[in-house]
Amino acid sequence: MKSYSRRQAIETIGRSVATVCILPGLGMIQNERKKHFVTLSFDDGFKKSSIRTAEIFEKYKLSACINVIATAHLPGFVLPNEYHNLPVGDFVLWNELQARGHEIMMHGYKHAHKDAMPFDEAKSLIMRCIDVFSKELKGFNPKNSIFNFPFNASTPELEAWLPSQVKAFRTGGPAINKLPHKGQVKLTCTSHGPDNIDEHLNGEVEKLLAKQSGWLIYNTHGLDEEGWGPMTSDFLDRLLGRLVEIDSVEIIPAGRALSRI
Ligand SMILES: [Zn+2]
Repeated sequence: MKSYSRRQAIETIGRSVATVCILPGLGMIQNERKKHFVTLSFDDGFKKSSIRTAEIFEKYKLSACINVIATAHLPGFVLPNEYHNLPVGDFVLWNELQARGHEIMMHGYKHAHKDAMPFDEAKSLIMRCIDVFSKELKGFNPKNSIFNFPFNASTPELEAWLPSQVKAFRTGGPAINKLPHKGQVKLTCTSHGPDNIDEHLNGEVEKLLAKQSGWLIYNTHGLDEEGWGPMTSDFLDRLLGRLVEIDSVEIIPAGRALSRI
């Protein structure tokens, strides 16, 4: 009979548990069970919405995924459009929310259309964004970060260069990604606006649940009346309440999902 070290024996038992547990009706280990990942990727960092979003996620012991503009809180910030004309949080708030377990990631230096400027200019804005986050956000490491393109507007050239600076980036594309895996640097998402998104988001969640597996990344903004394509806070509350009851669903920030690989 083959002899096993303690570690080999544990690994072998672990593998057989994982195999057995994919049968329906049996208790499943965490990694086998979670087949539907959901990331609600909140952009723009409106103060009131971000605080409320964090509170609602905390009610379900979940972490929110909040993407903020490096300079939006500074005097002289030029609003990218009328949907940004609202008070935003600053790095005191972002550090506080991060300390409470939420994920704070980059959403540009000044919220520029990076597909409408020369490559070097776009690159320089991203480097400046990384510099601000490195200085202001506690424990920030660009190599573990996600860059969330403003307007989800990237270019093939930027997409080829960016993984040399960050762990991954989020841009426009199919809402349902493959489950987190090694080498995944491009995350694609859908978004909806300028009016309320409740119904649209609900439809995208249903599409995910109808699939065998997948990772829905939905780019959200403010809550209630705030920002482009807002969601009602009551809808967010009910949606999370419903999803946490579904065994196959994992609600998780993008960076955390990739950090497990
Ligand atoms: Zn934005």
